[in-house]
Amino acid sequence: MKNNSALNNSMDSTCMVADEICIPDSKFPRIVVIGGGFAGLALVEKLRHQKLQVVLFDKNNFHQFQPLLYQVATSALEPDSIVFPFRKQFNGYKNVVFRLVEVEEIQPSSNVIITNKGNVNYDYLVLATGTSTNFFGLDKIAQNSLGMKDIRDSLNIRHMMLQNLEQAAITCNDEERDALTNFVIVGGGPAGVEMAGALAEFRKYILPKDYPEYPSSIMNIYLIEAIDELLSTMSDKASSKTLKYLENLNVNVLLNESVSDYDGAQVITKSGKSILAKNLIWTAGVKGQFPKGIDEKHVVRGNRIKTDSNLKVEGYENIFAIGDIAAIITEETPKGHPQVAQAAIQQGKYLGNSILNIIKDKPIKPFQYSDKGSLATVGKRKAVADLGQFKFAGYFAWLLWSIVHLMSISGFRNRLMVGFNWAVSYFTYEKSNRVIIRNFKNNNTIVKPKASNLETISKNNN
Ligand SMILES: Cc1cc2nc3c(=O)[nH]c(=O)nc-3n(C[C@H](O)[C@H](O)[C@H](O)COP(=O)(O)OP(=O)(O)OC[C@H]3O[C@@H](n4cnc5c(N)ncnc54)[C@H](O)[C@@H]3O)c2cc1C
Repeated sequence: MKNNSALNNSMDSTCMVADEICIPDSKFPRIVVIGGGFAGLALVEKLRHQKLQVVLFDKNNFHQFQPLLYQVATSALEPDSIVFPFRKQFNGYKNVVFRLVEVEEIQPSSNVIITNKGNVNYDYLVLATGTSTNFFGLDKIAQNSLGMKDIRDSLNIRHMMLQNLEQAAITCNDEERDALTNFVIVGGGPAGVEMAGALAEFRKYILPKDYPEYPSSIMNIYLIEAIDELLSTMSDKASSKTLKYLENLNVNVLLNESVSDYDGAQVITKSGKSILAKNLIWTAGVKGQFPKGIDEKHVVRGNRIKTDSNLKVEGYENIFAIGDIAAIITEETPKGHPQVAQAAIQQGKYLGNSILNIIKDKPIKPFQYSDKGSLATVGKRKAVADLGQFKFAGYFAWLLWSIVHLMSISGFRNRLMVGFNWAVSYFTYEKSNRVIIRNFKNNNTIVKPKASNLETISKNNN
């Protein structure tokens, strides 16, 4: 294997031993980017056509637009509307190489990356691996519930939902029907709120048409949040408006409550409530994910990697971290920057410029995050917006949310597809994608409440 260093830019052959991944020869420095999410993709875009070899490794062959995962989960959008193949994105980018691999380990002492398909060396390494669902060590809940972090999770949720609704029509057992049609969403952040709103609209507009055999009280939706407000990172106005919107949509919002146990059919909360539900969607937290090899002393709260203000991982000269995985800890940002798309994109672009400056031996300025504000939607035609000192809610906020999201999706065709779907559903409330294509296997069985002092909530209490 060729011995690369941060300063050794020339490259003869890259496939000299059997366990190496084949990468074209290049006389330019090699930047390996692990992860083509918002951060990694913004970085690659910044470095295209530069005198660098950019190698992107991702375990998927596509970039995904996570903010709309809930719409795929609730059948409003097809998965290919919100994912975009890297190879199509990189058409015509002569200095960019994509390889579909999962990175398993980094060996910083030798500048080598070990993947599930072979090894490769780097001059500069960028970790942009994002986060995975955090179940906070609650293994039983993790086993029986579904997270919503990628497109596969969304499709799992969609198939679980559609299959359970079909099974509910088959069963003659009232208790089982309740469990099959009840939904519990854990986590009152944007993902949980948007999911709860979308499900409530499904119940309101689709359920009576598609499942006329069901009583109107069926399909209870619970949103459980551990603290005393929803959307805690947004303004008080946004939190209280969101609560009101969800209550108007008959979502049972349980604040100051958390889930302590779940066996696949019965949710037990910390305060002793019991909810029969075969559908539990967990959006309560994320934790950083990255390959092994980074010294643990650089890993901080939320399993994020501590970087300096230039996004360089502390303790390494040629390793950087960007996006959700990176934490610049300063007095102004004691918890790092928010784990949102805007921060990830800005860090990707910033690092692109920085790397070009580093290579040209030019000085670099510290990363400055510019917060453009936050938006969250609660069902159709309602959203909340915090844009600096402007805080508003309702139809105009929803319109803004729609435009911002539409413009942020990768690919003209995808934007067109999403725009068309939204326009149709705006006027008809129709969601057209309710087909069960693959079987979601849910082996959960109903376990009846054992403790008699548990408050059983299985009927609609609205
Ligand atoms: C349901 C949901 C809704 C959201 N809504 C919003 C919103 O409305 N607004 C907002 O600003 N933010 C939102 N976010 C947050 C936003 O999506 C993230 O902040 C953003 O995706 C972070 O970008 P990233 O590039 O750091 O990581 P990601 O986008 O997560 O990308 C990480 C990439 O790394 C790849 N990867 C990971 N590990 C490996 C490995 N070992 N080897 C190879 N490849 C690997 C993954 O396949 C993925 O492509 C939402 C997130 C979720 C889950």
